[in-house]
Amino acid sequence: TAMAANPEKTFKFVVVGGGIAGVTCAEQLASQFPSADVALLTAAPLIKAVCNFKQVSKTLEEFDVEERPSSVLEEKYPNLRVIQSAVKALHAQQHVRLITVDGLEIHYEKLCICSGGRPKLLTQDNPYVLGIRDTDSAQEFQKRLSKAKRIVVVGNGGIALELVYEVEGCEVIWVVKDKAIGNTFFDAGAAQFLIPSLDTDKPERAATCKRARYTIEGPAATQGLAVGGDRQGQRRGLEEPGSALGPDWHEGISLRGAEEVSHRVSVEYQSEVKQIYTHQDFLLSPLASQTADTGSWPVYAQLTNGKTFGCDFIVSATGVVPNTEPFLHGNSFALAEDSGLKVDDHMMTTEPDIYAAGDVCTAGWEPSHLWQQMRLWTQARQMGWYAGRCMAADVLSETIELDFCFELFSHITKFFNYKVVLLGKFNGQGLGLNQELLVRCTKGHEYVKVVLSGGRMLGAVLIGETDLEETFENLILNQMDLTPYGEELLNPNIDIEDYFD
Ligand code: FAD
Repeated sequence: TAMAANPEKTFKFVVVGGGIAGVTCAEQLASQFPSADVALLTAAPLIKAVCNFKQVSKTLEEFDVEERPSSVLEEKYPNLRVIQSAVKALHAQQHVRLITVDGLEIHYEKLCICSGGRPKLLTQDNPYVLGIRDTDSAQEFQKRLSKAKRIVVVGNGGIALELVYEVEGCEVIWVVKDKAIGNTFFDAGAAQFLIPSLDTDKPERAATCKRARYTIEGPAATQGLAVGGDRQGQRRGLEEPGSALGPDWHEGISLRGAEEVSHRVSVEYQSEVKQIYTHQDFLLSPLASQTADTGSWPVYAQLTNGKTFGCDFIVSATGVVPNTEPFLHGNSFALAEDSGLKVDDHMMTTEPDIYAAGDVCTAGWEPSHLWQQMRLWTQARQMGWYAGRCMAADVLSETIELDFCFELFSHITKFFNYKVVLLGKFNGQGLGLNQELLVRCTKGHEYVKVVLSGGRMLGAVLIGETDLEETFENLILNQMDLTPYGEELLNPNIDIEDYFD
């Protein structure tokens, strides 16, 4: 390509990462500065694009995500260049040089790092321990699952929740370190509401797949893109991570094991994996004689609760580690405790002219008392968009205020086939004893929880078709004193919307 002939190139704006954060940031910059050169550098051949964006309410948003060939972006923005080559090193001080694995040298005026995260694995380089992050790893999982009779799933976040619900035809041992499932999103009450779904057969889902998916035939193929339900991505080396899958990552791929059962999930609460044994190591260990039903499995997981389970493989779904390595050497980025790049309220890192957004960064500003960072799809989009606007404001010497979307945490998703809306301090985060909860629950139908403090609503969990999200969002945003309404707030016979009109 032209880049190879001219390995040194300067762009006004460079964005690293073809996930939601990076693509949104690059699009924002390319459209705001139609005559400036913008480059999007990414390790994977496909990029992620937001489509069907819908503002559901003041802060709640919904959208679909499509994997697309990068040419789509270049066609849309003539000044945007997508370069597929992973960044290997960054020289932040020597005015601003990025080096890629292909030896390209890229100079920038302003840089935004959106390199996402990779799964935190229980152990590295164990062929029986899988993480799920991108299309490739999801496919590997599917392939292994089709021959599996029992798997162990470790983790209690969104991915684990979806996984245990979606897997059929295979026994699942679900290892959670907390007292209840879904601790990242729910309290014990909501978990109790959801648990029965694991024992019932899943409803048949419409088989149509609303997203277009692309297949790349060979490394250099820009032609030959097939759209369809299959998700055969190009095989990539580990050093070239794809972007994170989205909310419906399992849609269009069948998650079936080798057995003729629907759900068979057993939860091991308050436990973690203590040690992993290969078949051989296990037989040689004293555990083999202590464990009642050992069977013959390729791998064994010994838990901290004393139990040991043999299984076909282990899925590690315990969160992500920010992808920062290629950027750190020789530079002095401030890192947060979770090892993300620390950013201020303008998404700026501590290195000059370098911004960061999405899973790779950690919000380092004093947040609104109703917002918290969570490494989610929506926040990746919001941060990427806002980072782009901040970079623009900086170039134009304009001032810009923290975007409204960081006022109130809000998230819409689906768990166990229920619609789930989370608002504000939905789990009473940081409130300690200084909170009051109101709960309304109809088994198999809906679960509504409101978090109040000093008579004001600070958060809510809405599971099912409650239709309460807009009203509650308003009550949280306007911080009205709700003391006079007491428990009436959740009285199903009162149309609460009329109340506050
Ligand atoms: P990513 O999407 O990870 O993109 C990072 C990009 O950087 C990639 O394109 C990668 O190729 C590129 N890159 C990395 N290193 C380099 C390098 N050195 N040089 C060049 N490029 C590089 N969120 C939700 O809100 N709801 C959900 O239901 C949900 N489900 C999920 C299910 C799964 C299985 C996973 C893994 C995540 C899920 N998430 C969900 C989280 C959500 O997907 C992420 O928070 C979000 O996609 C992060 O976007 P990002 O752009 O920051 O990073």
